[in-house]
Amino acid sequence: MSVLDSLVGGIANGSIEVVDLTAPLSEKTPILQLPEPFGNTVPFTLTEISRYDDRGPAWYWNNISTGEHTGTHFDAPVHWVTGRDGSDVAQVSVSQLVAPAVVLDFAEQAGRDPDFLLEIDHVRDWERRNGPLPEGGWLLYRTGWDARSADAEAFLNADESGSHTPGMSVECARWLAEEAPVIGLGVETVGTDAGGAVGFDPPFPCHSFLLGANKYGLTQLQNLARLPVRGAVLIAGPLPITGGSGSPARVLALVER
Ligand code: MN
Repeated sequence: MSVLDSLVGGIANGSIEVVDLTAPLSEKTPILQLPEPFGNTVPFTLTEISRYDDRGPAWYWNNISTGEHTGTHFDAPVHWVTGRDGSDVAQVSVSQLVAPAVVLDFAEQAGRDPDFLLEIDHVRDWERRNGPLPEGGWLLYRTGWDARSADAEAFLNADESGSHTPGMSVECARWLAEEAPVIGLGVETVGTDAGGAVGFDPPFPCHSFLLGANKYGLTQLQNLARLPVRGAVLIAGPLPITGGSGSPARVLALVER
């Protein structure tokens, strides 16, 4: 049997499960809120063109408005100034959109401390127990934040001192960009960086180092708890927006059961 026959046969008989890692897109989808004077994304919006009426008697369709970085989405290198000479979202190699993924589960730590930061030692310790990070694959960082994604206030978790959501230290972000074999970082939070990362040096280190290294980001993922520690294959489907800095994406994982 060919590999692809085995794959479709496995999906049909349930020995391979397709897990949806994508948050539903709606007007309630949480979006990043930057303070003045910075620009912000418009919420996702549907505007009806016709619905089986005078405007189109047999058909229903909508215009959509949103930002490139809304909901479950893909960050391309050109999103950040450090990656300005790198790939836009349409230039990302399609063979990299199907890649192995590992899950580092720090939901317990992030549950105790919303400002929890992943350190190099956490990843090294994980590697000692689970093997190396995948060459050409994704590090998926589970924090339990997907449980908050239907409630924008809990998801962004902001107070007068700013947003409190888990992320990664400056040193770990630099190491992941420059030394780890992965092509990208996937997270459950609104962006790849911690809520407090505006005050780090450099600010937003995951964006700065990873995108500067022509690597990628995936954000607002769900259902990482349903993936094995290693062995899943991730399929990311950003739209090929010419010149775009990112795109909402359908993200799926193939998991052997
Ligand atoms: Mn983004």
